[in-house]
Amino acid sequence: MKPIHMVDLKQQYLKIKDEVDAAITEVLDKTAFIGGPQVEKFAKSLSEYIGVKHVIPCANGTDALQIAMMALGLEPGDEVITPSFTYVATTEVIALLKLQPVFVEVDPTTFCVDPEAIKKAITPKTKAIVPVHLYGQSCDMEEIMAIANEHHLFVIEDNAQSIGSDYTFKDGTVKKTGNIGTVSCTSFFPSKNLGCYGDGGAVCTNDDELALKLKMIANHGQSKQYHHDLVGCNSRLDALQAAILNIKLPLLDSYIDARRKAADFYDNAFAGNDKISVPFRAPYSKHVFHQYTVILKNIDNPESVRDGLVAFLKENNIPCMIYYPIPAHKQKMFASFGGADYDLEKTDWLTHRVFSLPMHTELDEEQQSYIAGKVLEYINK
Ligand SMILES: *Cc1c(COP(=O)(O)O)cnc(C)c1O
Repeated sequence: MKPIHMVDLKQQYLKIKDEVDAAITEVLDKTAFIGGPQVEKFAKSLSEYIGVKHVIPCANGTDALQIAMMALGLEPGDEVITPSFTYVATTEVIALLKLQPVFVEVDPTTFCVDPEAIKKAITPKTKAIVPVHLYGQSCDMEEIMAIANEHHLFVIEDNAQSIGSDYTFKDGTVKKTGNIGTVSCTSFFPSKNLGCYGDGGAVCTNDDELALKLKMIANHGQSKQYHHDLVGCNSRLDALQAAILNIKLPLLDSYIDARRKAADFYDNAFAGNDKISVPFRAPYSKHVFHQYTVILKNIDNPESVRDGLVAFLKENNIPCMIYYPIPAHKQKMFASFGGADYDLEKTDWLTHRVFSLPMHTELDEEQQSYIAGKVLEYINK
């Protein structure tokens, strides 16, 4: 059996090695390291793929969120509603810009932000909502957009984990995640569904005026050379990374198929087990399985069972991860933002029980039946 990795970037690279190596050599030959044709081509291809009018590439997904919040003109003290159950980058940029994060619950079934919780958290100071399409599943965007429209709020989609996912509206309209909110942000971190070989990110919008501002802010607030109209930052997608992404973007749908196939295998293997709750697939979302995250249930002491399971799998050369063991509102980072004042029962419940298995494009059935077998062996003992 091939060794099992949480994410197997090496095997994936070997399948496209010739194209990738040639593309890298071409960038080196042309010494077009900053901007240039590869970056332009990628921005255009990604906008076609997502169906969104403007794609502004930038240095990483965290910058994408920061640039989006800066371009929307959010001011210190403005309240931004975000789930606490997410990767730290989502919530960190809110605090970095001296905005006030307002942490709300996720729906423990979908892992995504609960629209009812958003409604309850709105105050006269609320300016924006940041739905996070967690693990590869879209948030309930129809509900969230309705709430945002009613209260005149911006919607900043955190699409770092769900690029390529589709959302189906009640009238049958299908849109890709990242093409629904006011603006969306994504990441090309190597392990993401569309990963480059370093850091990369992008901001997307259909709003022409906002697109101009996003572009300026990502480039020192510059309107034309040496004219700096806004306070911005320096956040560029590297040409080498763009060249790699130009090869990988046409493969994204096949990568998603491979992830979904692996998810089906796990689902079948765990079917009927009352201690493992497999990922729910919301009817409105095409799940792209950035992670395969299960919930341990009907167990008295889930945290210690989970610790034992992690150790047991490690002994058997199976990596696994807890995404995420500490929710944002309990991070020390947010102590001065009132983090400790929150009581998010569902979020806490999840953080004690979630468990993510190896998920990537290169898993084979031999590996997966070994993984599932070892998980069941421990859980059922
Ligand atoms: C990865 C990730 C980010 C940040 O992306 P980077 O490119 O690592 O900065 C933001 N939000 C979520 C949900 C992520 O998973």
